[in-house]
Amino acid sequence: MLIAGNWKMFKTQAETREFCAAFSPPDGVDVVVCPPFTSLAAAVESGLRVFAQNVHWAEDGAYTGEISAAMLQELGVAGSLVGHSERRQYFGESDESVARRAAAALEAGLDVIACVGETLEERERGATELVLRLQTDAVADAVGAHPRLVVAYEPVWAIGTGETATPEIAQDAHAFVKSILDVPVLYGGSVKPDNAAELLSQPAVDGALVGGASLDPDSFAAICRAALAARA
Ligand code: PEP
Repeated sequence: MLIAGNWKMFKTQAETREFCAAFSPPDGVDVVVCPPFTSLAAAVESGLRVFAQNVHWAEDGAYTGEISAAMLQELGVAGSLVGHSERRQYFGESDESVARRAAAALEAGLDVIACVGETLEERERGATELVLRLQTDAVADAVGAHPRLVVAYEPVWAIGTGETATPEIAQDAHAFVKSILDVPVLYGGSVKPDNAAELLSQPAVDGALVGGASLDPDSFAAICRAALAARA
């Protein structure tokens, strides 16, 4: 069971060290934190498993504002998110660029969490499966069921909104993604200590990608304990 915390554009280096000193997850859960680029080294120093929030496909070059897999590996970073909905929504990330990022990162030896998920408008017009198919196919065509690849199903309407997919919605979406690409699938979207166990006890839910609740060491540790209990 993998529980990953996406810190987005939160936590300086000092705040990262403070978090790490206070964070005490249970044994038996794979825990990852995804700090902003500037706090990666501080998190690695603490001994936590650390992923970046994005990675470029080129080894180096004229790509202002981007970071390569080798640059991350030099810091001791173990993997990266790709295709988070905020990257797709605000920074023009496409299914094609997400697939290129995933392929290059895996090729370089990083682990990858590739994010997919429908907007509220897409769900309401009955396009959820179409969107999930297009997003998942792009990654599947580029890398297949790679052993270091995980998908995160993150319905956009549930991210940072306090609204969570029901366990049934999550289970159905995960089963659908797995029918296209047979890799572990994390659920993301307002996971909190009090809803984590129910979501994580669904058979097709293999872990969680946690945003807001991963910023607090006690809440994030509580979600990790719920994950353990859900699989007991
Ligand atoms: C996310 O950013 O990946 C996320 C799931 O955020 P939140 O848990 O805050 O909804």
